[in-house]
Amino acid sequence: MLIVQKYGGSSLASIEMIKNVANRVIKTRKQGNKVVVVVSAMGDTTDELIEKAYKITSSPNKRELDMLISTGEQISSALLSMAIHHEGYKAISLTGSQVGIITDTMHTKARIKGIDTKRIEKELSLDNIVIVCGFQGITVDEDITTLGRGGSDTTAIALASVLDAETCEIYTDVDGVYTGDPRIVKKAKKLDVISYDEMLEMASLGSVVLNLRAVEFAKKYGVVIHLRSSFNDKEGTIICEEVNIMEAPVVSEIASDENCTKITIVGVKDKPGIAGTIFSHLADKGINVDMIVQGASLDEKTNNISFTVTRDDMNESVNVLKGLLPKLSATEVIHDDNVAKVSMVGVGMRSHPGVAAKMFSLLGERNINIHMISTSEIKISCIVEKGKAVEAVRILHSGFGLE
Ligand code: ASP
Ligand code: MG
Repeated sequence: MLIVQKYGGSSLASIEMIKNVANRVIKTRKQGNKVVVVVSAMGDTTDELIEKAYKITSSPNKRELDMLISTGEQISSALLSMAIHHEGYKAISLTGSQVGIITDTMHTKARIKGIDTKRIEKELSLDNIVIVCGFQGITVDEDITTLGRGGSDTTAIALASVLDAETCEIYTDVDGVYTGDPRIVKKAKKLDVISYDEMLEMASLGSVVLNLRAVEFAKKYGVVIHLRSSFNDKEGTIICEEVNIMEAPVVSEIASDENCTKITIVGVKDKPGIAGTIFSHLADKGINVDMIVQGASLDEKTNNISFTVTRDDMNESVNVLKGLLPKLSATEVIHDDNVAKVSMVGVGMRSHPGVAAKMFSLLGERNINIHMISTSEIKISCIVEKGKAVEAVRILHSGFGLE
């Protein structure tokens, strides 16, 4: 069998840990498998490299930034290869360019356009364990690119797909995906299996166990992911297509996100094109808007429009909107950063009515006021007062029987 394994920075943070990873890789090899290993940079190396660049200039050239930050993975791959040699096994480390991971030219967030598997196949046929630098590729003009922060996951899944690997094991510092954040909900349980769609919703909620783009990639190409810990031998969480999950629970996970703020534009004229004006001005500034609620206007003359953005984007959003007030003939812009988003995700919601009603009732019983609500087919999110978010997560977690 061919197995792709990916080790994150937290699993490779020290020489001791690199040796541990080497033993894990060798164990998989000894079981008769061919192994391709994708590595991230050691610990916080990438952050440290970026910091260095910003000490020189506040706007580093992106091509050069890619030259710089792609070095982190070169260090970890070479060291891991040496650690494997030291144990008496054959291994070779390869950069993105040596592997032939061709990307577009969008430096610091490039997309993979194609992978030439010849080199990897040759090395595998020579009995080598192949260690690939994650997160990096090369343009057709031979400039080094990177795939966006956390991009090693994408490298691993892309390789698993083109090499037709049996599974893609992603090793990290947690045991898998949990029904809730174990730091908040003591009785949170590890999920054995979860669907791509649920993972995508969760990644968009900010619970970043896996890179969003990597999950999209896995879904598109049907790559089964086994997310697990590099610190123990426990089975982790399998991420796969929903049809392969026997009994999907109604709710799989409850999450909260404090990185959100609520902005309301009061007294907006009720006429076509207004929402388009508001949100295109925000989009022009690269501001990502999450939940949007427009009240129905009673007098058919004015509306209030509320939406949420991350904390970083709040001030800029408010400024953009203040400038637009005359154009919108709106009265004022209010913002509130004392809020948090509490969400429930689960594919079972599709077939079980009353989930939202139950969620709202559970919150209501505890006197937790809901400021905003948004839903998708498999997710319900509520904006609540920030100080109530932890309590909200706990009562929903027990209320929906996740413990
Ligand atoms: N080292 C890169 C980062 O920290 C890529 C990765 O970890 O996946 O973003
Ligand atoms: Mg990293």
